[in-house]
Amino acid sequence: MANRALNFNAGPAALPLEVLQQAQEQFVDYHSAGMSIMEMSHRSAAFEQVNNETQALLRKLYGIPDSYYVLFLQGGASTQFSMVPMNLLQAGKPAAYVMTGSWASKALKEAKLIGETTIAASSESDKYNRIPDLSSIVVPENASYLHITSNETIEGTQFADYPNVPDNVPLVADMSSDILSRAVDINKFGLIYAGAQKNLGPSGVTIVIVRKDLVSDSLKHVPTMLRYDTHAATDSLYNTPPSFSVYMVNLTLKWIESKGGVEALEQYNRDKTKLIYDAIDLSGGFYRGFAQEGSRSAMNITFRLQTEELEKQFAKESEQQGFVGLKGHRSVGGLRASTYNAVPHENCKTLAEFMQDFQRRNG
Ligand SMILES: *Cc1c(COP(=O)(O)O)cnc(C)c1O
Repeated sequence: MANRALNFNAGPAALPLEVLQQAQEQFVDYHSAGMSIMEMSHRSAAFEQVNNETQALLRKLYGIPDSYYVLFLQGGASTQFSMVPMNLLQAGKPAAYVMTGSWASKALKEAKLIGETTIAASSESDKYNRIPDLSSIVVPENASYLHITSNETIEGTQFADYPNVPDNVPLVADMSSDILSRAVDINKFGLIYAGAQKNLGPSGVTIVIVRKDLVSDSLKHVPTMLRYDTHAATDSLYNTPPSFSVYMVNLTLKWIESKGGVEALEQYNRDKTKLIYDAIDLSGGFYRGFAQEGSRSAMNITFRLQTEELEKQFAKESEQQGFVGLKGHRSVGGLRASTYNAVPHENCKTLAEFMQDFQRRNG
C-alpha cells in the first residue's frame, strides 16, 4: 500500500485512500470515454450524470428535503461570507452574528460591507474558547438571519446544539469544517454552506444548501454570479463548474455511504477523537485542552503544553514520526489535530500513543 502520512491537516485535509485510488483508476480514462473527467464538456451526458448523482447522494445522506436547493459553487466559504448578506440581508433588518472565533469574525466583517449587522452573542472575552450559551443568544425579531459557525476550525470549538430562532428569521450556518460529520436536522436551517476541502473532498467546490423560499429572483444590484437564483435555476451549471472537484465529492459521498452514512460516521468520529481527548484529560495537566469541555470540537482538537519550547519540541518530534499538520494556527498557538471524516481511527490511536509517550519522556 502507498506510504501514507499520519495526516492531521486542517484543510485541505486527508481524503479516504479508497477515494484516491478510485480516482487514480479513472484518472486517464473515465468510463472508457478516452479522456479524463477533467477533459470533458461540463454539458456532456457523463458530467451531467456526475453532477446530478452528487446532488442526489448529498440529499440522501444528509436528509435534505425537496424544499431546499443544493448548489455547487466556487470561491470557497470565504465568498459565502459575502454572498449570504448580498442575497439575504434586507434594508432595515440587521443580520445577527454569533461570534465564536476567527471564522465568525471574517463572516461578520464581510456582512458589514453589505448592510446593518448586530452581534447576537460572543465569547471573545474568553478568547473564543467556548460556544456562547444558547440561552444568551439575542436575535432581534426583525433580523434578516442569524449566522453561526457550527465548528470553529482554528479554536477547536463546536456547537453541541443549534440555537432556536424567532419565526421568520432563517438560521444560516458555516459548516465548512463539520458538514456531514454528524447528523443534522436540515429543517432547522435556512442556509448551510461549506467548502469541500475539510470533510467532503478537495478544494474548489463549495456546497450551499438553501431553502427555496429564501432564493429571490428579484435582487436588483447583485452580480449574476453572486446570486443564488442564478445557480439554482441552472443546476449549478450556469458557467463552467469545478468539475473535477465535484467528481471527487461524488466519490467521497459514496465512501461515506459505504461506511454506513452520516450517523455511523458520527459515532466513528466520536470514538476516534475520544482517544485524543482522553490523552489530554488523563495527562494530569501535561496537556491542556484549549476549548472548554461542553464546546469541544469533534473535528479540530486544540491543546497546549506548559511551555512554547515544549510545544515546539512536540511539533518537531511528531513530524519526525510521520505526523503532519499538528502545529496550531498562529492565532491560537499550541497544537491542533484535525480529525475530519477521512482521518482513520488507527491514526488517532497512533497520535494518542505518541502523546502518552512524549509525556513519559518529558513529563
Ligand atoms: C476553512 C474555513 C473557511 C474558509 O474556507 P475557504 O474555502 O478557504 O474560503 C471558512 N469557515 C470555516 C469554518 C472554515 O473552516
